Amino acid sequence: MKGRRGLVMGVANNRSIAWGIAKSCHAQGAELAFTYQGEALEKRVRPLAAELDAAVVGHCDVTDPATIDQVFEEVKRVWGGLDFLVHCIAFSDKDELTGRYIETSADNFNKSLFISCYSFTAIAQRAEKLMQSGGAMLTLTYYGAEKWMPHYNVMGVAKAALEASVRYLAADLGPTGIRVNAVSAGPIKTLAASGIGDFRYILKWNELNSPLRRTVTIDEVGDVGMYLVSDLSRGVTGEIHHVDAGYHVVGMKNPDAPDL
Ligand code: NAD
Repeated sequence: MKGRRGLVMGVANNRSIAWGIAKSCHAQGAELAFTYQGEALEKRVRPLAAELDAAVVGHCDVTDPATIDQVFEEVKRVWGGLDFLVHCIAFSDKDELTGRYIETSADNFNKSLFISCYSFTAIAQRAEKLMQSGGAMLTLTYYGAEKWMPHYNVMGVAKAALEASVRYLAADLGPTGIRVNAVSAGPIKTLAASGIGDFRYILKWNELNSPLRRTVTIDEVGDVGMYLVSDLSRGVTGEIHHVDAGYHVVGMKNPDAPDL
């Protein structure tokens, strides 16, 4: 990854999946730039960026397209181009990440899909212009896109749309040598995950029932993320790569697991 420059969007703190990916890319020699969402997170992101000698290219709230433009103008000013992009951004009103999906409000549906799905396309539009000699884009998804999960609700619908966008973006950008992939991570205790109802139960269920009988860490997701934005995966695009201790292959409860 030496000589490669990547923009990492979605670091909130040192438990963020984006931070795991950034650490792994940095360990392989990549040069990084971070964005942050608002002043409160800026205070957390700046010291983390300093740890990796990374640039901080500004505030970005994806609901305000002007802030996306400003970030990409800054990346262009500092680097002139971009080799890879890491998108780790999702949001839904936590009042609707519990109970029944059928209760989803139109307002939260639009907001969740816009922030968690459309933002990747909006950012890809800007990143494409800076990837003149090819590149790689990565986003983060969850198994709740493929199967029903308790409380995941509208986020499952947003992630399904995000996974479809990975395939459409891969087809659009492939001819210019830009690859687009996603990591489908198993449940990890992060700020975003703490908004999901009964998250501890989901973690425990995965630990008891996944083939590896454990959950995954941001470092494990980080290493696969690094692989997907590096030349090691140069023949891979449009892929949803599970990093979930194998949970997605399981069809039934492990009969040896205790009842929860
Ligand atoms: P996190 O809270 O550390 O990161 C979420 C990030 O989204 C934050 O940095 C936040 O600032 C950003 N964000 C939210 N709304 C935004 C907006 N309007 N504009 C710009 N940024 C915004 O949590 P995380 O778990 O590391 O989440 C990263 C990604 O990983 C998300 O897409 C999430 O759905 C996905 N994911 C998480 C898990 C898990 O169990 N933690 C599993 C699979 C996938």
